Amino acid sequence: MVFSYHSHSGQFCKHAAETLEANVLAAIELGFTHLGLSEHMPRYCDEHLYPEEKELGMTPADLEQQFDAYVQEARRVKAKYADKIHLVIGFETEMCRPESVADALHLMQKYSLSYCVGSVHHVNGVPIDFDEPTIARVEKQLGSTEALFVRYFELVKEMIEGIKPAVVGHFDLIRLLRPQQPLTERILAAADAAINAAVKHNCLFEINTAALRKGLQGPYPHADLALRIAQRGARFTISGDSHCPDFVATCYAALPAYLDALGVDAIWYLEADEGKPALAHLCTDWRRWFDTHCQQQDGKEGHVVATDNTGQTASK
Ligand SMILES: [Zn+2]
Ligand SMILES: [Zn+2]
Repeated sequence: MVFSYHSHSGQFCKHAAETLEANVLAAIELGFTHLGLSEHMPRYCDEHLYPEEKELGMTPADLEQQFDAYVQEARRVKAKYADKIHLVIGFETEMCRPESVADALHLMQKYSLSYCVGSVHHVNGVPIDFDEPTIARVEKQLGSTEALFVRYFELVKEMIEGIKPAVVGHFDLIRLLRPQQPLTERILAAADAAINAAVKHNCLFEINTAALRKGLQGPYPHADLALRIAQRGARFTISGDSHCPDFVATCYAALPAYLDALGVDAIWYLEADEGKPALAHLCTDWRRWFDTHCQQQDGKEGHVVATDNTGQTASK
């Protein structure tokens, strides 16, 4: 078995590429047994539109319509390929405004979605994974990089407690543009509080390989935090956080050694009947896919390469 619970397509996300169906076909081609569809939830304020959306003249109402069209298309594709791959239909959260928890819960209920990837991409409403001037702006507001990290993990905890997501997305995304920041006691206290909330609510932590594609030292969460998470008995899943068909299993070749280093030998996958909440199941035979797919492709361009840094700049 192999799977990813974090994927996007250019059809419903302007910083991704190709249709949703093309992304699903790529997963089938790779031998994926399950794929989670997790398009970004709509953002409801003009100030939170991304530059590529503004360039296209989109409004928050367009994002809502886009999400509506996504759910319809996801249901069509799920049914069409049901004998080839198990699709789980959900979304990825935002925490860009105080109402975001309520926004996410409303969306989940409105569409009877099966799961969500609980992610934080903003601190004080400002994106922290976009570019240097943007993160520097919120860092300056808060006074230090340490304060920025603390606030980020506080928001992750708030998101986990409010939304209880099935999957916690890229737990330490805050390191994308600040990889050198040491984990001080204050930061670790905030991160631990978020980890404890996730353990309490039975969330799965994704090991997200997109970080490797972007040239970071490890997947999200990085080894120092991933070990703390593992020691608290949390459950893990895996994801490529793909934004195009070529990256559905991006850098997956690095996963077996990484999971071994964490002492994790079983990972979890989700299944859901359409319109029903996803249930987590234990997967013990995940190594088989890696044994047959990863060795040959190591070092080549494309699907499961460990150091491919040529992908998109956007990291949401
Ligand atoms: Zn994205
Ligand atoms: Zn994200």
